[in-house]
Amino acid sequence: MHKNWIAGEWVASQNTQQNLNPSDLSDIVGEYVRASAADVDAAIGAASQAWPAWSLSTPQQRFDALDFIGSELLARKEELGELLAREEGKTRPEAIGEVARAGQIFKFFAGETLRAAGEFLPSVRPGLNVEITREPIGVVGIITPWNFPIAIPAWKIAPALAYGNCVIFKPADLVPGSAWALAEIISRSGLPAGVFNLVMGRGSVVGPALVEDPRVHAITFTGSVGTGNQLLIDAVSRHKKVQLELGGKNPFIVLDDADLEVALDCTIQGAFYSTGQRCTASSRIIVERGIHDRFVEELAKRTSALRVGHALRSETQIGPVADASQLEQDMEYVAIGQREGAQLLCGGERLQRDTEGFFFSPAVFVNATNDMRIAREEIFGPVAAIVRADDYDHALALANDNEFGLSSGICTQSLKRATHFKRHIQAGMTMVNVATAGVDYHVPFGGRKGSSYGPREQGRYAQEFFTVVKTAYTAA
Ligand code: NAD
Repeated sequence: MHKNWIAGEWVASQNTQQNLNPSDLSDIVGEYVRASAADVDAAIGAASQAWPAWSLSTPQQRFDALDFIGSELLARKEELGELLAREEGKTRPEAIGEVARAGQIFKFFAGETLRAAGEFLPSVRPGLNVEITREPIGVVGIITPWNFPIAIPAWKIAPALAYGNCVIFKPADLVPGSAWALAEIISRSGLPAGVFNLVMGRGSVVGPALVEDPRVHAITFTGSVGTGNQLLIDAVSRHKKVQLELGGKNPFIVLDDADLEVALDCTIQGAFYSTGQRCTASSRIIVERGIHDRFVEELAKRTSALRVGHALRSETQIGPVADASQLEQDMEYVAIGQREGAQLLCGGERLQRDTEGFFFSPAVFVNATNDMRIAREEIFGPVAAIVRADDYDHALALANDNEFGLSSGICTQSLKRATHFKRHIQAGMTMVNVATAGVDYHVPFGGRKGSSYGPREQGRYAQEFFTVVKTAYTAA
């Protein structure tokens, strides 16, 4: 039984859950406890008690803990990658890459503890000077989704600790395994009791307990639009600092002058890898008229040839969908697309394999229009809608006509168009001749419009959320 880590101890709970492998439902990954509201209360109490001392810890103390965690993640990336692939369903190489990413993030923020610089200015008044410094916010609630079970926790936990905050971490119910493994490493990293706490449990229990408690100063959330927006209202009305990363409907534009091979690679990688379950996936492919038919024909051929199967088999390119409700949602959107009048070129069906799992063939729709639900709403599965554009200006207008603004991309050999696109696309991240999904760990991550709220995550920009600024005046 995997327990919660609260106040420096492993804590049992009456409620438990099984973690199932979506590639093989007969494979139980493990048993995990579910926190009660009282467990969350204990974790918040422990974090509040630990915070005054931890907020004054030296950069070296924080460096040592984060460096230890990063080193162990990197050393165990194969083993933890297998666990991640088993519980979430992304392929083994993708899962190993995600664990390595988590390790690199801890290493990066270990370094950031040593670079926490402030500013020193002469005052406008005689005899005074002004110092501007950053201090930790306090106790931070961290709530994460199931699609990146270790990288997203890492990119929130590492900066929270690096800047001197105490953490209460609530992973997604569906994938407690990687989160527990990460917490187990953190439990041995030398952090004082209460600085880091793990509360696995139901969102409807743990979420409100964190949001409503005045001892929690800030909440960083990645997940669905509905849950995030309600949390925002509840948390802001209580004066908490909030950071949200929500959905996306990321456009990828293919212009007539694109290198066809590059365009196909970026589309298949962006739309279908990780089973399309990435907030940065490109599920709207906007294709200029001249290249449209050639592109579509080749895309359907290559998509149909993708090997869907058990996440741990070496030949597999696309793993299963994460769970039954996500599979149902993917199938429902395929039906919606057909009802709306788009044409299903390939895929969109549940597949049988020699193990019982949630296998689904990647789907391509053509003749989609920007007002169709399959082109407007986040599906969060391997379903791509192709929208035809008359020219570049039309493509750009279509790309911007959406409530989300997370990632975006264009495939072109024109420097002029690429430069124009980078400036005019309404998105937090934009890619030229690269897939919309797949980002570096040392630079800011986040979106605009309905995709995000609050300061950026990752890189040194993470300090905006995890610190608060102090201005000090001194008359010598
Ligand atoms: P979700 O909203 O169902 O769950 C996210 C987390 O919130 C989980 O830990 C869940 O238990 C918790 N939760 C549930 N109810 C809650 C409540 N009332 N209060 C507080 N927390 C609660 O999302 P999901 O299905 O796990 O993840 C998929 C979504 O995440 C997609 O929409 C995807 O686009 C988004 N996502 C966004 C990014 C990004 O950076 N923009 C990255 C990854 C995933």
